[in-house]
Order: sequence, then structure tokens, then C-alpha cells
Amino acid sequence: MTDKAMKDNAITPVLESRGLTIRFGNLVANDSVDFAAYPGEVHALLGENGAGKSTLMKLLYGVYKPTSGEILVDGKQVTLTSPAVARELGIGMVFQDLRLVPALTVAENIALALPKGKPRSGHALIESIESAAAEFGLEVNPKAQVRSLGIGERQRVEILKVLLSGARVIGVLDEPTSALAPQEVDALFAQIGKLREQGLSIIIITHKLREARALADRVSVLRGGKLVVSGVAPDTLDDQQLVEAMVGRSVSALAKARVPHDAKATPALVMKDVSILGDRGEHALRDVNLTIHRGELIGVAGVSGNGQKELVEAVLGLRAIASGSITVAGKQLKRADARTAIAAGAAGVPEDPVVEWVVPGLSVLEHLALGDLANVRKGLGIDWDRARERAATVEAATDLRMASSERRVATLSGGNIQRVVLTHALGAPRSLVVASYPARGLDIATTRRTQELLLEQRANGAGLLVVSEDIDELLDLSDRIAVLHDGHIVGIVSPADADRYEIGRLMLGAAA
Ligand code: ADP
Ligand code: MG
Repeated sequence: MTDKAMKDNAITPVLESRGLTIRFGNLVANDSVDFAAYPGEVHALLGENGAGKSTLMKLLYGVYKPTSGEILVDGKQVTLTSPAVARELGIGMVFQDLRLVPALTVAENIALALPKGKPRSGHALIESIESAAAEFGLEVNPKAQVRSLGIGERQRVEILKVLLSGARVIGVLDEPTSALAPQEVDALFAQIGKLREQGLSIIIITHKLREARALADRVSVLRGGKLVVSGVAPDTLDDQQLVEAMVGRSVSALAKARVPHDAKATPALVMKDVSILGDRGEHALRDVNLTIHRGELIGVAGVSGNGQKELVEAVLGLRAIASGSITVAGKQLKRADARTAIAAGAAGVPEDPVVEWVVPGLSVLEHLALGDLANVRKGLGIDWDRARERAATVEAATDLRMASSERRVATLSGGNIQRVVLTHALGAPRSLVVASYPARGLDIATTRRTQELLLEQRANGAGLLVVSEDIDELLDLSDRIAVLHDGHIVGIVSPADADRYEIGRLMLGAAA
């Protein structure tokens, strides 16, 4: 039902805002927002980075005080002077950086959040947790140490904590599923479905359209602080329309024409029995064998932290391997050997560009020139006129709206650093492109442009290794998908015949 239909049926929203506005200096972060959450519904709040979603949630949770407008609970105007006041009115929030204390047990963590008057220790506490867990279908062991729990389990504890403090409307902030395998996402959605059946109102923030469609009864879209779609059923808009609402202009769909790759040419990358140690001396990657042909894009799926970082750094020559060999376009890398990798035509985006790529004090132009040394060298120095020209050329070719050349890279935001690294990596023909989480920190239109550039590299004969947590993105882009678990490639699947669940099973460590 739309907001209007709900109102016509005289259903009172459990939580509502009218004309809610907040300014941060000159910025209007929420601009006259009318938002309503009804009992027994899941309401997805969509929007680009910076659209004002978190700000709206924080206003509804008493973290911020609005500049103007009002908030109503059960149809009555309220003044939320603090989160404690919001919690007393039945408003709960689940933050993504799960605010649990690892050294304490589940029960102890929950006790910390309970209002006065509820049992906060002993048998009574354990019993109240167990009975709520059963009632809401959120399986947890109250005596387990939080430290020993996986992310999915921690989310359940967090939700239970909010429920036990009496919440009737729960905001689930910011991409709760980004670190989960598809099976775990389904489990979370089933749990949220049960909460809805119990009459709770759930507001979930996401930018994944597939998830919004799967889960939500209604969707709203924020753009530039304004609510541009207000509580409509998700199937009244197609993906293109939802993306347009989020971006504010049309974004072309990805053209996914595949080119047959060249299996006879010298491969872009050959890894033979490669083992790599992580930062703490542990085996981060073991016995990896992988060949990427020219014109082939291999996606790497996996829960992050299973060897992706070390894999990408080793291939870019930024990290020494413990044993085996890595060959880029026919040139074997010695120990940490970025020079050979670059000379062989490799470029890429490491998982942590700020640590691995950014030289504090250097400008955008200087970074581009260093990465393009062979072309801008003049004697022992750099031909800066030529460097400026080359920078302008790659900037125009990639069209990633990079920050101005004079800016120092260290002063840029994560998303803007990502644009510079991508402009450098994708702005010239390469033999091998290695990209860790290429869409990190980017808006939807820039993400789409980046994907186009990756596919253009493939069409021009580069081999590509793309690490992503977004299985849909990998299924869209890849010729083959390698699944990493615990430092091993546990399976290589073809997107044509793999489904998300098979990939998810491999991600979670099930044998192929
Ligand atoms: P979203 O959650 O949709 O990504 P946010 O609500 O976090 O967006 O931010 C909306 C806008 O308000 C952004 O431009 C952000 O930089 C700005 N903003 C958010 N919080 C503050 C704050 N406490 N002070 C100043 N500006 C802020
Ligand atoms: Mg946010």
C-alpha cells in the first residue's frame, strides 16, 4: 500500500516525520522529509552515498535535533532529545558497526542495553533472552562469548538486544548484508520476515535493488536530502526507474557483449603453486594455481579477509610470495617486484590504496606521472608538460570525474582516491588489470562507468582479475569466478551455469 492508501485505511504510522529538515552549515542534509513507517511492514530506504539516509535515521533516533519539522510516534508529536528517549518510545536502531563488546557474553552485551526494570543478570536475564529468541526466531546462545560469533550471529544478537529493550520500530542501518554469503542473507531476511509477522516495523537501508525487492513491502528513495520516492510498492518501479530516482538522471545499462578470449597468446597472468604469507606471518594464500588469458575477466568471490588482499598485492608486485611463481604477460616477477609488473603492463587497484598507493604530499598529477613513468621521462627527470598532457588524455578517456590534478591525494576522500587510482589503472591499454573492490566508495553512475571501463579493457585484450563482495556484479562481469576461502581457491565456476547459492556454499567453505 502507498502512504496514502495506508492513511485512507486509517492505519497510524508507528513512526512518522513531517517536513523534517536539518542543516549542517549550508548543507540541507534532510529537506522537508515526510516519511512514515507502519506496523507490520518492511520499508526499504534507498539512496546514493550522501543522500541523507543515515541522517534521517539519526533524527528519528534522537541523535540529531531537527532544524524544523516534526516527529510523531503512534500519531502523537514527540521531542526526541536523546536516543534514550527514542528507545523509551519503542524506537530501536541496529548499527552496522555492530556495537557489541567482544570480550563479554551475549547475555552481558544485551544486559548493557536493557532499560531499568528489566532483569539484567542471572537466570531471569538468560530466560528472558531465550524466550525472546524463541518468540522472534533469532537463535542465539546467551552464554557464548561475542568474540567467538560470526557476523550473521552478531547481527542476531544486535537485533535481539534492540527487541528486548522494547523496540516496535527498528531501523537497520547501512547495508547489513554486505559481509554475508547469499545463504546468510536469506537467513537474515527470514528473521526480518518473522519480525514483520509479529507486527514490528522495520526500516532497512540498502542500495541493493535486488534485496529491496526481495524484502520490502514499500520503498522510499532519498536524493540530495529530499524524499523523491515515498513509500511505494517495489514492483511499481523497474530497476532503471529506481536507479534514476537515486541518481537523478538516467544511467545506461551495462552492455555485456563478450569477446572470445585468446587462449594461444601469452597469458596475462600465470600463477603456479603460489603461497603467500599475511602480515602476521600466517599463510594467507596456499598453492594457488590460476591462469588468466588475454581478453578474459576472472572474478574473485569470497568473504573479504580470505586471502584477497594478499593475492592482489602479490600479483601487482607489492608483496613477496613465499613459494611458487607469478608471471605477468610472460615476465616472471621476482620478490616484491612492482617494477617488473608495471613494465609488463599490469596496473590495478590494491585493497588498501591509501597504504599501498598514496604517497603523502604528492599531487594527483604526480601520482599519475609516477605510474606512467616510461611515457613521461625526460632524462632522469619527468617532462611535466608531457605528464600534464597524458593526465588530461586519460582523464578524458575514463571520464571518472577525478579530483583536480593539483590536489594532494592524501587530502582526498576514499571515493575520490579510488577515482584517481581507477583513472590511472584504466586510462591506458594494459595487459593485466587487477582490481580490488573497484566500486568501493563510488556513486552508482561512477560504478557503472568503472564497470564499462573494465569491460573495455577486456575487449582490448587485457586479462582482468576483479575482486568483489557483490556476487551480482561478479556474475555480470566475469568469464569465470574463482571462489576464495581460507587462502585456497576452493572452486572456479562459470557464471553461465553457477547460481548464487553454489558460490555462497563455496564462500562458506563447503567442498566443491
Ligand atoms: P547517507 O547515509 O545517505 O550516505 P548521510 O546522511 O550520512 O548520507 O549524509 C548526508 C549529507 O550530510 C552528506 O553530505 C554528509 O556529508 C552530511 N553530513 C552527515 N552528517 C553530518 C554532520 N554530522 N555534520 C556535517 N555534515 C554531515
Ligand atoms: Mg549512511
